[in-house]
Amino acid sequence: MTPTSSQHQETIGQLYDRTTEMIEKIMGGSLHNGYWDDPMDGASLEAASERLTELMIDKLDASKGRRILDIGCGTGRPAIALARTAGVDVVGVTISEREVELGSRLAKDEGLADRVTFHVADALELPFEPDSFDGAWLFESLLHMPDQARVLRQAYSVLRPGGVLVIANLVERAPLADEQRGRLEASYHDSHIDSIIPLRDYPGFIADSGLALREIIDISEHTMSPTLHRIVERIAGLREEFPEYDGVIEPPPFVARLIETPEIGYAIIVAAKPERLAGS
Ligand code: SAH
Repeated sequence: MTPTSSQHQETIGQLYDRTTEMIEKIMGGSLHNGYWDDPMDGASLEAASERLTELMIDKLDASKGRRILDIGCGTGRPAIALARTAGVDVVGVTISEREVELGSRLAKDEGLADRVTFHVADALELPFEPDSFDGAWLFESLLHMPDQARVLRQAYSVLRPGGVLVIANLVERAPLADEQRGRLEASYHDSHIDSIIPLRDYPGFIADSGLALREIIDISEHTMSPTLHRIVERIAGLREEFPEYDGVIEPPPFVARLIETPEIGYAIIVAAKPERLAGS
């Protein structure tokens, strides 16, 4: 039996409910990679993670008072930073109830509960009116979602004409050998990865959704290896702290596979919903 979209949502949502706080701790507050200027940059994972959020805010180019949709919002830190830095209202959606609780608590603690709200919703069926957001982002969330073409069409629908969509995502930068691909894909399940799209496919993928591509920025060298190595270091630190869990606390197989697969990189993709032509 093939699971329906809502069954899929429930099981994956529950997985996030269980693991999200641990991942947040290891990743330094958010659930995404960091950004380092160069190999000499000794910034912590926390600082580098905030830097990647700043870069995303910059690319969204949202002005004060606008309403932005955060699709796959995690525990809410990027949405809070966006609301504070750009002066916008943010609606965050995730399939994890626990993430909604954590995000809502953070918004309240930060005094932003009137401007930043979190909701359980599936990116494949966004419960919003057409043309109801001035901008949106998919911040390291698209790779977790099935039917990513449909997610982009959903984003297109809820954006107003002229609204910008910014995607940060792992991408395949060079083709993988079959054996390499097999090993990598075998590690997807535990990290809730659905698929990683080749970077060269993005122009077509974006165009098919109706969006107009503005920019693709390959930031692989600034993010992949330094993030992965810091995750491994952190997990080794945890093992020292809790020797009784030796052999239990291990880097997720997905992290180990990414380290040996430099063909997988990271890109920021900026697109916009075209303005309506006069009279149409
Ligand atoms: N953007 C956040 C979280 C990234 S982790 C950050 O940068 O910290 C991936 C997120 O995508 C999680 O919040 C997960 O719940 C969400 N997600 C995965 N599949 C989803 C779906 N089908 N619909 C909505 N959110 C989804």
